[in-house]
Amino acid sequence: MDINFSDKRALVRVDFNVPLHHENLSVMDDTRIRRAMPTITHILEEGGSVILMSHLGRPMKKLKEDGSIDIERFTLKNIVERLTDLLGVEVKFCNETIGEKVTETATLLKRGQVMLLENTRFNEGEKKGDAEFAQALASLADVYVNDAFGTAHRAHASTTTVANYFDEENKCFGFLLENELKNARKVTDEPARPFVAIVGGAKVSDKMLLLDRLIDQVDTLIVGGGMAYTFMKAQGGQIGNSLCEDDRLELALELLTKARQKGVNLLLPSDSVIADAFSNDANTRISPSNLIEDGWMGLDIGVYAQNEFANNIRNAKTIFWNGPMGVFEMSNFSNGTKLIARAVAEATKKGAFSLIGGGDSVAAVNQMGLSKEVSYVSTGGGAMLELLEGKELPGVKAMGLGKVES
Ligand code: AMP
Repeated sequence: MDINFSDKRALVRVDFNVPLHHENLSVMDDTRIRRAMPTITHILEEGGSVILMSHLGRPMKKLKEDGSIDIERFTLKNIVERLTDLLGVEVKFCNETIGEKVTETATLLKRGQVMLLENTRFNEGEKKGDAEFAQALASLADVYVNDAFGTAHRAHASTTTVANYFDEENKCFGFLLENELKNARKVTDEPARPFVAIVGGAKVSDKMLLLDRLIDQVDTLIVGGGMAYTFMKAQGGQIGNSLCEDDRLELALELLTKARQKGVNLLLPSDSVIADAFSNDANTRISPSNLIEDGWMGLDIGVYAQNEFANNIRNAKTIFWNGPMGVFEMSNFSNGTKLIARAVAEATKKGAFSLIGGGDSVAAVNQMGLSKEVSYVSTGGGAMLELLEGKELPGVKAMGLGKVES
């Protein structure tokens, strides 16, 4: 952040899209708020003032029965208390995003003061990337700081269009966004070898592009979780009632062929913990992953697979992990994911660079208290996947600031 913020009003796009408790709408997990703190405090310490903006949830997708926005549920007011506690500074909350009242409050901001705008997605222009809305937001401030990595893959007004209304010297990335880009580059640009990627989770279709791109880059690709059974079936395996995407069998075969041609060691779980129901109380046993009887389904990787995967991970010098190895939300099917998390932590201790790429693998690492034992835990699932897929993020491109140096 090479802007001098002294006496400047900074419009800061953060990602405060945090989970809220259902009953009292208080903040359930404040990780994203905490991760934005360094940027906000830096601006305040330099003598600037801060206008924070963020979205929260999907208010337009979850309208009330009468068609109106459920303000109570989606207002950013719900996070003010926690934000104030973390910042130690009073936060002036505006119940609008633009308009006369907002402009007046912004104009009166003094050095060291913080104001928070209402949920940007209450305005229809946000998701459309609307120029008029973006310009109105931009008019509130002298400089623009984008620190919202979690939404950098969306071409929305507050993440992308707004950047067009600031000169190059009056806009910059915040510390969090900069850090995310730097850490992603450690994996995408000349990674130390061996490079091992671990991809799990439910569906192949969600991670098709990622798998394809990773095969170009890695030495070993470990595929676990529900998506592994589509690969098993594609090769003629019997997978019982395990998760399978029949319309992706062809694709799975293509990926296997590509891996073979490129000399990539693509590992699938040779055995699985299988269950006779999708329930933590189901009967379970271990079975080869390609010989699962009807009525049974693979819900976690088996012991042989755990060891084979972990041995490869322990020898890696670069690791990227996205997606659990099984239904880790249920304790009886969480062992595979836990063991992988431990192996990633061990490799990191031995000097490997490990990037946990958003979503459920982050939850798994956090649950196990291992987040400090890996190199970097990303705050953005979708955005990190797009970076790893080789895409340019609209929120990054719009800043026109070129490549972030590592
Ligand atoms: P994703 O969002 O694609 O990373 O998928 C995460 C979800 O995949 C989690 O909710 C897991 O419970 C689920 N999952 C992982 N392994 C399996 C499996 N073998 N069968 C069914 N669901 C799975």
